[in-house]
Parts: sequence; structure tokens; C-alpha cells
Amino acid sequence: MKNLRSMLPNEIEDILAGLGEPKYRAKQVFKWLGRGIGSIDEMSDIPKSLREKLKNEYTVYEPKVLSKQVSKIDGTIKYLWELYDGNAVETVVMSYKHGNTVCVSTQVGCRQGCAFCASTIGGLVRCLEPHEILEEVMFSQIDSGKQISNIVLMGIGEPLDNFDNVVKFLELVNHPDGMNIGMRHISLSTCGITEKFDKLAELNLQLTLSVSLHAPDDETRSKIMPANHGRGVDELMECYYEKTGRRISFEYIMIDGVNDTQYHAQLLSKRARYVGAHVNLIPMNHVEESRFQPSTQGHIKAFVKVLEDNGVNVTVRRKLGGDVEASCGQLRRKMQKGNQVK
Ligand code: SAH
Repeated sequence: MKNLRSMLPNEIEDILAGLGEPKYRAKQVFKWLGRGIGSIDEMSDIPKSLREKLKNEYTVYEPKVLSKQVSKIDGTIKYLWELYDGNAVETVVMSYKHGNTVCVSTQVGCRQGCAFCASTIGGLVRCLEPHEILEEVMFSQIDSGKQISNIVLMGIGEPLDNFDNVVKFLELVNHPDGMNIGMRHISLSTCGITEKFDKLAELNLQLTLSVSLHAPDDETRSKIMPANHGRGVDELMECYYEKTGRRISFEYIMIDGVNDTQYHAQLLSKRARYVGAHVNLIPMNHVEESRFQPSTQGHIKAFVKVLEDNGVNVTVRRKLGGDVEASCGQLRRKMQKGNQVK
């Protein structure tokens, strides 16, 4: 059955028109869906006969909380949700001075194969539907009681490998009668599926594109990110920025002895200045199965200094939720391995 929460008001209008119902009901239905109802029957101002007709062909689902961990250090909340088919994905809610940010997953697993990332270890299981990504935001807000003001698509999965569903999710979450979260408050993070950049640029969305660069040269990048093969750093730099003129930011995980040398810092500075990118350095979270180690504090400091001396806008990501495994794919991985998650 089709899920109603993946539909925009105009699509609901079409469905209702087919059932001989007036247009205004579409807005009513969409609003109910946005309030986080778990079944069609909860739409109390919709006539029962219409609810029954809808239930014949459509459904609404409320994901179950499999696990919820709250950091004692900074209040970061990590959810593991059970989806309708028994699969699980993670969502993280982080609180900053300027508001609450939710980090959502876009796929169950991932097929990009980055060597440092826990999400990709079991490969890709399936893409998330638009309503499933929306429900991560909606039910995190409802359960935590924290009003979500910002969204980052930086959880499990590669958003541009689930392009149509991710775009639909963006339209849904941005809709004024829905959660109404502005595009300027949304960041999409990608390992660089460059062939989708044109399509994204054409949509002219006002969102921030974060490129998970992690190395400024092809030799290093191809070693840690299979997605670099056949694409390359030069290609990554140009396409999106040139088409939209919108700023991009670079994510850069600091991995000991792999991408944290002075050579890398100098080349990264050049790349960042070329497109005016902001650089976000990420202290690497250790992943059990990975052979990599996080860079030392000393190396991170020296790396930052090179970037700053070159006039690059750089920040080091504050580590949030260190005690709740709030990094990409770790919790789901633990569950896959049969360990207790609470
Ligand atoms: N596929 C997208 C979005 C998901 S990954 C992308 O590649 O951007 C979100 C961010 O978490 C990326 O920048 C990714 O490189 C980072 N990440 C993955 N594993 C990590 C680890 N072990 N420690 C710190 N950050 C990690």
C-alpha cells in the first residue's frame, strides 16, 4: 500500500478528487500527517466513510523507537528506529545555542565503501522512502520535545544515491503546511556522486552542499573513498559551485598518517580557497572494524594552523554524543552484530 506521508498536498488533492472529495480536504489531510498521526483513523475531522476509502489503498506508519540514548555529557539524543519492514536506521538530535539540529539517515546501509565508516560495512540494504526520512525528523521532534530548526543529511547512506526520494523529502519537510523547515537550514552531505550534481543544481534549492572530501588529492582520496574512482577531486570542485554560485563546505575527517600531513594541509588550502569553501575538520571516531586511527590533537592543531595561515575558514567539529555512539552507523552496526542495544 502507498504511504500517504510521502505525498504532497497536490498529490493528495488528486487522490481525493478521484474519490469525489472537495479540494480543501487535501490540506486537512496533509496537516494531520504533519502532526505525526500513526493511523488514518486519527484524522478526526475527516468523515469516517472517507477514512475507510483511504484505508483501502493507503497507509500511514509510525516508526518504533528500538533504542534511545541520551548523552550525559551534552544531551545529544540518538534514536534507533524500527521501520515497517524490520530494518533499522539511526537519527541524532543535537542541541546548539542557535537551535536543535537533526541528523537523518537516507538509506538502510550504504554502498559507497568509505574505509573509515561504519555505515557501509554491511553494504546497502535499501533506500529510504520520502516518508521514512520525514518521519525521522517528525518523530525525533515529537519524542524529544525539542523543536527542530536545522537538518543535516549526514546519517547512514548517501543522499545522492537516493536522489528522487531525498528531493521529495526536502519538498515535504519544507512545505509551509508541513514542518516548514527552510532550505537554508538544511545541509546535504555527499561523498561526491558528481553525475547527480547537475540535476541537483537545476532544482536551485537554497540548501548547503557539504562535500565529504577527506583528501585533497586523488591518490589519497581513492585509497579511502572508492567513490573517487572515475570521478576525481578536480571534477568535485567545479560542477556544483559553478552552476549555483552557492557556497559549499568540505568535511574532512582527520585520520592518523593518512590525510593529516602538511602536504595535505597545503593542498587542501588551495582547493578550499579556489571555491571559497569552509572546511569542517572532523576528529575521526574509531570504528572497530577499521584499520585507521584518529589523528593526534597535535596533528590536528598543526593542520588547522596551515589552513588558517592560508586564509581558509576552518572549524574543528565539536564532538557531541561521545558516550552514545552518535556517529554514523555505529549503533545499527552493533545491533547487526547481535549486541544488546538499549
Ligand atoms: N554519504 C554522505 C553522508 C553520510 S556520512 C557523505 O559521505 O557525506 C556523514 C559524515 O560522517 C561524512 O562526512 C562522513 O565522512 C562522516 N563519517 C563517516 N565515518 C566517520 C567516522 N568514523 N568518524 C567521523 N566521521 C565519520
